[in-house]
Amino acid sequence: MAQGLRLVLFGPPGAGKGTQAQLLRDSLKVTHISSGDLFRHHLGQGTELGLRAKEYMNKGELVPDEVTIDIILDKILSVSDEEGFILDGFPRNPHQAEELEKALNGKSRNIDKVVHIEVSEPELLRRLGGRYVCRACQAPHALGEGEDAASKKCDQCGGELYQRDDDGPEAVKKRIEVYNQETMPVLGFYRERGVLADIPGDNTVGQVNKQVMEALGA
Ligand SMILES: [Zn+2]
Repeated sequence: MAQGLRLVLFGPPGAGKGTQAQLLRDSLKVTHISSGDLFRHHLGQGTELGLRAKEYMNKGELVPDEVTIDIILDKILSVSDEEGFILDGFPRNPHQAEELEKALNGKSRNIDKVVHIEVSEPELLRRLGGRYVCRACQAPHALGEGEDAASKKCDQCGGELYQRDDDGPEAVKKRIEVYNQETMPVLGFYRERGVLADIPGDNTVGQVNKQVMEALGA
């Protein structure tokens, strides 16, 4: 039986990795492994890994790399060779990339392709700065050019829209800065291995998906 693709979807916050990962999951029939979803799962279920992560979060500390790596590898190693997977939100630094490579080397073969969605900083600031949430039902909303949160209501329930502290201008700048400093070096790691595909990500969801599929030869 054919072996499933092993992919990493890489890009800054606001690049649309989650959306692209879902499209790829549907067309390539691979397992979508989102680090954010996995964390929420472990925390919500109170698993052993979740409790380990929570210890740090309760103290207001960052969850150490080793715990994050264990949470992701635990999932990756459960995916069969035939199935394949697409990683979204991991690895976030070169150490995580090395640990992923070691684990996969022990499991027949490595990452086939790293899809790097490149988005310019002004476009990221525009996208991330436009994120609002309904106060009543928590539905996410994207505010377009010239729209303001005060006059726009929730599409789902008519509730009031507000911006989370995480999505405020200072927090957004900080997230991009952390990405540039800690996560960007991962690109060099994969470039050396000849598996990197750069995709311009300022376009529409459909156009980006088309270019990703072309890069994968699918
Ligand atoms: Zn609502």
